[in-house]
Amino acid sequence: MSIQTFSDVLRRAIADFETHGFDSEERLARWQRELMGAAEGHTAITADNLKRTLTSIYTAQVTKGGLLRAHNIPAWKFNQIAPKLQRELQRRIMAAAQLIKLNREEMIARTMRRFSGWATSIPIGGSEAVDRKEENASIKKALKSLPYDERRVMIDQAGKFKASLSNITATETGAIAAVWRSHFRAAGYNARPDHAERDGKIFVIRDNWAMQNGLMKLDGHQYTDDIEMPAEFVYCQCRYKYLYNLRDLPDEMLTDKGRASIKRG
Ligand SMILES: [Zn+2]
Repeated sequence: MSIQTFSDVLRRAIADFETHGFDSEERLARWQRELMGAAEGHTAITADNLKRTLTSIYTAQVTKGGLLRAHNIPAWKFNQIAPKLQRELQRRIMAAAQLIKLNREEMIARTMRRFSGWATSIPIGGSEAVDRKEENASIKKALKSLPYDERRVMIDQAGKFKASLSNITATETGAIAAVWRSHFRAAGYNARPDHAERDGKIFVIRDNWAMQNGLMKLDGHQYTDDIEMPAEFVYCQCRYKYLYNLRDLPDEMLTDKGRASIKRG
C-alpha cells in the first residue's frame, strides 16, 4: 500500500471522529485496525533490498578486492580470512533486517499512540473546534518520516558493515595501529565533536606483534579497544586507516629495538 492510502484512511478517521467524537471503544478499535493495515504496507526497505545492498558492498570489498588494495596486504593472507568475511556478511544481513523491523514497529506504535490520544480527546457528538488540517499533518508526519528513517538506517548499516569488514581484515592480517579519520570537514556532515577531535590520531591495536616483540610502545596513545569503533555509533561515518609497518609509525612510538629493525629492513 502507498502513503496515499494511509493518508486517505487517516483523513477518513479524523473526519469520522470529528462527526461522532469518541463515543465507543469499538469506533477507535476499528480505525486503529484500518490505520495499522495501511501503515504496514508503508515500507521503503525490504529484506531483499537490504540483502542486495550489503551483498554489493561485500562484492566490491571482498570479491573485487577493494579491501585488499586499501590494506595493501598479500592476496594469500586475504584469501585465508575470506570465510570470516563471508560469515560477517550473513551476520550483518540478519542484524540489519531485525533492526529495520524493530524500528518500523516502534514508529508505527508511536503514530498509533498519537492518533489514539487525539481521537479519545474528542467529546461525544464531535467537535467544531478540531483543527483538521493541523491534526492530520502532525499524525501523518510521524508516519511519513518512516521511509526516510529506514533509508537512514540502511545507509548506517552499510557503513557499519564496511567498517567491520575492514576491522576483521586488519586484525586478522597483522595491523599494528590505526589512524582515525573523520569526515568533519564534509559539508552537511554533523560530526561528533570528539570524533572530529580524533581525526589523524593514532590508536594502537592491543597485543599486536610489534608490541609483543618490544618493537613499539604506546607513547601516550590509546588502544583501539579503549574507544568505540568508527561507524559503531549511530550515523557515524568515521573510519580507520590501518597501519601495518613499523615505518608507518612516528619515531617516538618506536623502541630502540624497533628502530634497529627498520634499519635492517
Ligand atoms: Zn564518527
